[in-house]
Amino acid sequence: MEKLVYLDNAATTRVSKAALDAMLPFLGDSYGNPSSIYSVGRDAKAAIENARGIVAAAIGAQAGEIFFTGSGTEANNWALKSAVALRKDKGNHIITSAIEHPAVLKTAEYLQTQGCEVTYLGVDKFGQISLSELENAIREDTVLISIMTANNEIGTILPISEISKIAKARDVLLHTDAVQAAGSIPIDVAEMGVDMLTLSGHKLGAPKGVGVLFKKKNLKLLPPLIHGGGQEHGARSGTENVAGIAGLAAALNYRVSQLPQTKLAAKRDRLVAELLKIPRSALTGDPVNRLPGIASFVFEAIEGESMLLMLDHFGICGSSGSACSSGSLDPSHVLLAIGLPHEVAHGSLRLSLSEDTTDEEIDFVVEKLTGVVAKLRKMSPVWDGE
Ligand SMILES: *Cc1c(COP(=O)(O)O)cnc(C)c1O
Repeated sequence: MEKLVYLDNAATTRVSKAALDAMLPFLGDSYGNPSSIYSVGRDAKAAIENARGIVAAAIGAQAGEIFFTGSGTEANNWALKSAVALRKDKGNHIITSAIEHPAVLKTAEYLQTQGCEVTYLGVDKFGQISLSELENAIREDTVLISIMTANNEIGTILPISEISKIAKARDVLLHTDAVQAAGSIPIDVAEMGVDMLTLSGHKLGAPKGVGVLFKKKNLKLLPPLIHGGGQEHGARSGTENVAGIAGLAAALNYRVSQLPQTKLAAKRDRLVAELLKIPRSALTGDPVNRLPGIASFVFEAIEGESMLLMLDHFGICGSSGSACSSGSLDPSHVLLAIGLPHEVAHGSLRLSLSEDTTDEEIDFVVEKLTGVVAKLRKMSPVWDGE
């Protein structure tokens, strides 16, 4: 097949050179178990502690506040479930938003089956929650607020430090899913004022299957989700993914060294400007407070799946919130939450860039996508325009 034009970096990323270099020793000669006392084991242990320090420094935390997990999903599960367990004497009410990743939403739904009450805050057309609505939603028995730092489908960045002021004033724990934000915009846990924060390796140039939960040190050790040999201070058992952990730290460190991603944002802006020349197209998400790499659209009278298949024919990888992920044809909960009618939400497309995205690739995508939209509309029974 021809060369891929990979514009789905919000789904996963290529492993960066920094990450690969950091990982290779632990896939080769340095294969010791970090819990063993001989030197090859101690080397692995040292690599994990080194990685912990790097991750901590990258987000303004202390090493003891960083816990490695098997994914961003696990970290989100752990944050929500353990906050509820830790604060059970205070109550069992959680506040989250309607546009969270399923790793938060489905965990919240599970907790509802266990007796928790959950408030799902709605969002405006840009994907922003209302701070006054948040304030009004807090009750005596509210134990946790979980709001993402930036959304994975529409790129909207949420005001976590503002949210934190409200949470702190009412003594409510704050967790944020920073999986999309980390490595794309600066993350500082003190400035953001969060108690817990989630990262995932494969969204920022590390391999799949490794994540992080930051937990502020004045918060008690979280009840484990996974029990066993007592790794991660007894909080998360299982022999560590040494290579993955080293890779995550190196990838994050590299990405942070490249901030701010002004060049990337300029490429995204050019892509957006060009694609909005397509009739009856619109940008989704916040036009200003958005991640530098995410361009997301809806095209009227288009079926997202068909668009993806036709783009794939040209080697272009994107994604659509209308993808029938669970065999259902419901459009994404995020696009419905920002108020798009079902039929419009079906024509969504997310193109997520990386620093490797070239101007030539952007030109190629603009040309091919403009053609694809025109062709699909010509075949569409619902297209009445020109
Ligand atoms: C990808 C993603 C996750 C899940 O992370 P995994 O490591 O793939 O489990 C959680 N939240 C957001 C916002 C994501 O984009």
